Amino acid sequence: MNLCPRFRFPLCPTYRPSLVAIFLVASRSYNKNIAAPQSATTPTLSLSYRGFLMALSASQIEQQRKEAEELLFSGPQKLGFAKGLFLGLFNAPLLFPYPRLKPEEVATTQAALEQVRQFCETSIDAAGIDRDARIPDSVIQGLGRLGVLGMTAPTEFGGRNFSQLAYTKVMEIIGGHCASTAVFVNAHHSIGIRALLLFGTKEQQAKWLPPLVDGSKLAAFALTEEQAGSDAGNVQTTATPTEDGKGFLLNGSKRWITNGGIADVLTVMARTPGLAGGANKKKEITAFLVTPDMPGFKVVNARMPKNSIRGTATGQLAFENMFVPKENVLWQVGKGLRIALTVLDFGRTTFGASCTGVAKACVAAASKHVKQRVQFEQPLAEFELVKQKIAWMAAHTFAMEATTAQCASFIDRGFEDFMLETAMLKVWSTDALWRIVNDTMQLLGGKSFFLDQPYERWMRDARLNLVGEGANDVLRAFIAMYGIKPVADQLLKVYNAAFNPLKEFGTLLNFGGSQIAARLRVPDVPVRSNRLRPMARELATRVRDFSLAVQAQVIKHKEGILFRQYVQERIADAACELYAASCTLSRLDSLLSGTANGNAAEIERDAQIGLYFLKLANRRVKQCLVALQDNDDADTTQTADAVLSRY
Ligand SMILES: Cc1cc2nc3c(=O)[nH]c(=O)nc-3n(C[C@H](O)[C@H](O)[C@H](O)COP(=O)(O)OP(=O)(O)OC[C@H]3O[C@@H](n4cnc5c(N)ncnc54)[C@H](O)[C@@H]3O)c2cc1C
Repeated sequence: MNLCPRFRFPLCPTYRPSLVAIFLVASRSYNKNIAAPQSATTPTLSLSYRGFLMALSASQIEQQRKEAEELLFSGPQKLGFAKGLFLGLFNAPLLFPYPRLKPEEVATTQAALEQVRQFCETSIDAAGIDRDARIPDSVIQGLGRLGVLGMTAPTEFGGRNFSQLAYTKVMEIIGGHCASTAVFVNAHHSIGIRALLLFGTKEQQAKWLPPLVDGSKLAAFALTEEQAGSDAGNVQTTATPTEDGKGFLLNGSKRWITNGGIADVLTVMARTPGLAGGANKKKEITAFLVTPDMPGFKVVNARMPKNSIRGTATGQLAFENMFVPKENVLWQVGKGLRIALTVLDFGRTTFGASCTGVAKACVAAASKHVKQRVQFEQPLAEFELVKQKIAWMAAHTFAMEATTAQCASFIDRGFEDFMLETAMLKVWSTDALWRIVNDTMQLLGGKSFFLDQPYERWMRDARLNLVGEGANDVLRAFIAMYGIKPVADQLLKVYNAAFNPLKEFGTLLNFGGSQIAARLRVPDVPVRSNRLRPMARELATRVRDFSLAVQAQVIKHKEGILFRQYVQERIADAACELYAASCTLSRLDSLLSGTANGNAAEIERDAQIGLYFLKLANRRVKQCLVALQDNDDADTTQTADAVLSRY
């Protein structure tokens, strides 16, 4: 069983060794029923969807399937909340009651939030950082002094031992103030030292963590290369064992690494072919702790000029016969991709927090502006199309905060399965923020284009979120297929039973019963507030409709669903809406059932905002499910092919 050595939860994928591999694992059961390959280069899959396969051979598919199984499904697979949605379940105890800071951490967290807020206001000049394309040393040192650079690290290493929930609140403030600083902190803390915190041995942690935790040294996480972007498993940097057995020689390059050229310790992913005896010997990847003083380490470009989060140092690196001692291997040889995927799960939670910070800033700025600016003899705030934008922005900001808090709480509670939820948070919140900054610019009109205002910077900075830490399109496909897996497994059991009806009569009977029940019953969505009952009932109905729709799509497309990204997108979008709505309902229930402190008028305003989000999400889920039947997919493909053939 492959468990994270420190926290004992399964290793969480977010990218994949190959997306196809995840799809294949998700539906591996179906493949058993498909004709054997005709040759090594002939796809093993049925004629019905052979057309989608294009370049993949039977052996490539099988290889990717093995890799994905080894990577994604070898740990214990307890049903997480989001996966349950695909099965028509609403696992309320995972989301209710809404997560709050533990009483013993409230005072420390409040004090830290106040310190960070003040530091941002007095010492972080976001516009200056953007203009100079550099975060001043004084900012980095200040963040170190405040403990931000090692906030969740245990106190034995000098950290502040903050919960993930408390840390996301800190990141919300930093993200709302300066995106460059937030990405810098994320690269150092959420992904940079995270690998050491989760996977380092006691000796490695004692040696490396203290200066990283206090911020006197900086960390980076180096996975991306020219051939390994979304296809993270395609790392080409090699690590060859030295003959004396003392270590490895690394050769290759990395690009677009945040802090890459300024970090003192980097977690670097490299191939160690055939050393761990995994499913694909060629593609075994190992994580190494690397320092820039190692001979052969080259900073090709420490600060690649770029259009957004310009203050971060995004580096290009090269390794030429760089010796790395074997003591610097993290966890085990061959486990690098698992480390990478787990670490990115943590990064995505703080991504959600940073997005929430920016979204709050947008709502406040746009609201103030539309109340003051008069056109056609009225404040802009009086126009319906303005109100529509303000309401949308506020509703999604409220839901974003709730969704981030739930993901952080999964980590704090040591849950085993939250990979789907962090992927959903990343996709959903970054897409929502993109629209929020776009609407903010629209409401600010011409004013938003000028560099004396922050709005165009907010927009530039928000664009990175849709690509960094996993491109949203790729994550959508992952969300759909990873969520579909348990549904496919369940259907396969029934499929197999149908061939042996006498022996498997019980399975068939149970399935028949559950199918009838699924159509008649909706899951229980328990809320304490009477006011929320109608929306809870709506949500429950959408969960039921969604799971039935997923099942119907799996039955309709069978293994072909692996290649149906139009279908996957709708399933993923509906799933994200359901998850965000569930988190929002939990937050609202806490607000309206009297467990949250606060001023009654503020609570009422939040209730209005949250309920409005539930309505929007409910409608969008319906639209996604309708579009599964009524769409222009064939025309889309034909049109794209027509365009592509022109170039
Ligand atoms: C400013 C910045 C900082 C970064 N910091 C780091 C860092 O610190 N460490 C690190 O390791 N990396 C870092 N990265 C790299 C980042 O993680 C990658 O850019 C990201 O993973 C996407 O890879 P790519 O850019 O090569 O896009 P590609 O893989 O080329 O994808 C481009 C687009 O193609 C489409 N696409 C790709 N695959 C599929 C598919 N299967 N299905 C449908 N559509 C698809 C999507 O629209 C996608 O957006 C950083 C990048 C940037 C821009």
